[in-house]
Amino acid sequence: MSNDPAVANLINVHNHGHVHLEDSMGSDLHIVNNARVSFDQESEEFTAKERGLLNFLMRERHGSPWESVVFRFDVKAPIFVIREWQRHRMGSFNEQSARYSVVPDHYYVPETDYVRQQLGKPGAYHFDPIDDPAVAKSTIELIESTQRDAFDAYHRMLENGVAKELARTVLPVGMFSRMKWTVNLRALFNFVSLRHHEHAQREIRDYAAAVEDLAKTVVPVAFEVFEANGRVCP
Ligand SMILES: Cc1cc2nc3c(=O)[nH]c(=O)nc-3n(C[C@H](O)[C@H](O)[C@H](O)COP(=O)(O)OP(=O)(O)OC[C@H]3O[C@@H](n4cnc5c(N)ncnc54)[C@H](O)[C@@H]3O)c2cc1C
Repeated sequence: MSNDPAVANLINVHNHGHVHLEDSMGSDLHIVNNARVSFDQESEEFTAKERGLLNFLMRERHGSPWESVVFRFDVKAPIFVIREWQRHRMGSFNEQSARYSVVPDHYYVPETDYVRQQLGKPGAYHFDPIDDPAVAKSTIELIESTQRDAFDAYHRMLENGVAKELARTVLPVGMFSRMKWTVNLRALFNFVSLRHHEHAQREIRDYAAAVEDLAKTVVPVAFEVFEANGRVCP
């Protein structure tokens, strides 16, 4: 992952992807004041008392005040990552249509250290780097050439006048797609607790780490108390 100096709030992920925080609403103080309305009170500034209240809300799992903060992300990720991402129903998605637009020839090719083997048993898998460098190299070549062939077939069909909605059916789950993700902080905590986690697939974990880094800039204290209370979604 790397920050793109040309675009604010954008983190590049993998060979063609990114997470871009385009917009947000709310702050640590918003969360406090959504809670304080219960007592018909309002805080003007964020002090140690407000920090203490955020910690209390997180510890006691008072969930709704966290929903007052909302983020809008632009995400470019492989389809297999997007598929996992869109299982998170508490959020809104709009995604590029391959029926209406020609998709770019962007597909996921892992770095060498991402070529791994699956060990262990169901419920207790772990993933270690593949031992043989020749296998790692041939895996990367296979992933690349198979996807390139699929895109070649896609373009041949388009040149022959076949509809995009049919031609796309040969495209691989490694192809990159773009989506907008609008999500509140409570649902985002749930997302990062599950996906920025060692049990999550490494590729979506990288995206979730980028989401967390960007969201933290908006509500730093919320993330401090999330961390301090074991990263459990309130
Ligand atoms: C490591 C890992 C492995 C996974 N493996 C699989 C797999 O093999 N197969 C598979 O199908 N999925 C799998 N999933 C997806 C997983 O089951 C969830 O669908 C996904 O993580 C979204 O979580 P969520 O429902 O908490 O999030 P959201 O859908 O965003 O929901 C947020 C919260 O809202 C509440 N909620 C939302 N919808 C309902 C509802 N219908 N009823 C009651 N409460 C609701 C729940 O409290 C939920 O936690 C996996 C996820 C992870 C992290």
